[in-house]
Amino acid sequence: MTQLMKLITWPNTLLNTLAEPVSEFNEETLDLVQSMFATMAHEGGIGLAANQVGKLKQVLVVNTTDAGGTIHKEFINPKITMADGRMVRKEGCLSFPGVYVSVPRSETIAVEAQDRTGAVFTIIADGIDAICLQHEIDHLGGITFYDRLSPLKQSIYKKKFNKLKGKTK
Ligand code: ZN
Repeated sequence: MTQLMKLITWPNTLLNTLAEPVSEFNEETLDLVQSMFATMAHEGGIGLAANQVGKLKQVLVVNTTDAGGTIHKEFINPKITMADGRMVRKEGCLSFPGVYVSVPRSETIAVEAQDRTGAVFTIIADGIDAICLQHEIDHLGGITFYDRLSPLKQSIYKKKFNKLKGKTK
């Protein structure tokens, strides 16, 4: 059953916990994928990782099509198999409401993953698609964009991050 899921916000420790690989492509996996798409749309996000809704599974969903990208798909057990170039853009995150920070990323990446049926596919992504995928794959590894910032940047944005600490769900 598709249902809206509750978002977890930083600094909840689930956001810094590695997600487990998915081995069964059953109804439970399908429900999770569909509920994550519904939750992402409801929250107005372009990407969502399972950690962010309290599930430590290697599942993420992306829909960049309204934000200048081309991807509307789930990625299960995703791996970056190629990365090239470098770019820095401002990113937001549903787990850091109201916070936007510049994060260094690769410019072009190849990602291998499985879809909801277990079929393996590879996607080459650049621009917002590449940023979104790197951001969400980081989540599955227990890494947030806060962890990607240098200590200097963390201190520059300290006020913004401290504001979130009092509101953790
Ligand atoms: Zn995020």
